[in-house]
Amino acid sequence: MKYLMMDWFGKFKCIGGTCPATCCGGWRIAIDDKTREKYNELKEAGDELFSGYSCDEGGNIQLLGEKCPFLTEDGWCNIVNKYGEEMLCNTCKIYPRVSNVYGDVNECTVKISCPVVAEYLLSEEEIAFIYAEDDKEEQKECDYVIYDGYSHARCYLVDLLQEHRQYPLTGRLFLMLDLNYKLEQLYKGGQFTLEKVDTLLALFGDAQYLEGVCSQVQELNKNLEIKRKSVIELFQVLFRGDAMLADRKMDSELRMYLQCIERKPEIFYRDYGAFSKFCGEHERVYENYFIYQYFIHIIPNHNKVLTWRMAVVELCYIQLMAMITWKKEKKLDTIQYRDIIVSVAKRLEHSDKKNEQRNRSIIENGFEDIAPLWMCLLV
Ligand code: SF4
Repeated sequence: MKYLMMDWFGKFKCIGGTCPATCCGGWRIAIDDKTREKYNELKEAGDELFSGYSCDEGGNIQLLGEKCPFLTEDGWCNIVNKYGEEMLCNTCKIYPRVSNVYGDVNECTVKISCPVVAEYLLSEEEIAFIYAEDDKEEQKECDYVIYDGYSHARCYLVDLLQEHRQYPLTGRLFLMLDLNYKLEQLYKGGQFTLEKVDTLLALFGDAQYLEGVCSQVQELNKNLEIKRKSVIELFQVLFRGDAMLADRKMDSELRMYLQCIERKPEIFYRDYGAFSKFCGEHERVYENYFIYQYFIHIIPNHNKVLTWRMAVVELCYIQLMAMITWKKEKKLDTIQYRDIIVSVAKRLEHSDKKNEQRNRSIIENGFEDIAPLWMCLLV
């Protein structure tokens, strides 16, 4: 088997007891059938450890409050302590690792909903990729035209984000969304061929084209009124269809802020004007964010919807929360930024099904085109 790994994957090590945001709580933990059976057997056999254990109808472990019932006071896992890691369910064995297999290529990374990984994102080190091979004979069904086409596009995007910093970040991000939109059109229209993708990439590789697009969108990006309206509209769509985002403390803070900038546009102009200067000093974080997202999501896999729009939504969410904190506390340190990333990513990256719904809803409500979506990028 061949492996394409983001360098974060090899670097990652769980810090367990000292983790500031354990993955053993705050969201649903799905238990696979085999593990559920094993746990039920242990419970029936009278194992004290499993006496309070049960699952809900969706196959998720019943939490104690917000936490997994097996979580110890010092942040480790009682199942691992007693039986070793082998006894864990697949969710807990794998998290935060992600492995997408296309044919005989296994693409591996780790998720930013884990604070250790969020710190890699904030470290501002350029993401690197590692290629390896072993003797495993595993294969998964794969449409190689789609995989190769999207892989070419991904190489282009990594190069654009990492190597072409002579173009402004907002311009490069517009090009990134535009390319994805055009690929999506080819894909949806049954026109996705390697020739067509390469023709598109040749256009996106043309320096004159890049300069032209970047200078046009720079002008558009200065229109803070369109930006403000796009952000408000995006969250109205998101909150309207999403009960899950309704009651949390963090979301209520966000709602209040959105209501405030709806009534008083000048507050948004002032806050964003000042915050964007801070963001301008951390371009690498935003480049890495999209490289991370594209590495996981760019290739349509098992008929999943494309989630590049949700990557924009997630970053907008993170940036708004960061802006609110920064305004309130007159600073934003790495720990605060990390905790915001973890908290938003935990909420939005948790469920593919939910993301499909959100994705559909924003497409149907004015965010199919890239311009309004791109205006929501508060970087
Ligand atoms: S969130 Fe990450 S560091 Fe924290 S316990 Fe889970 S895997 Fe370990």
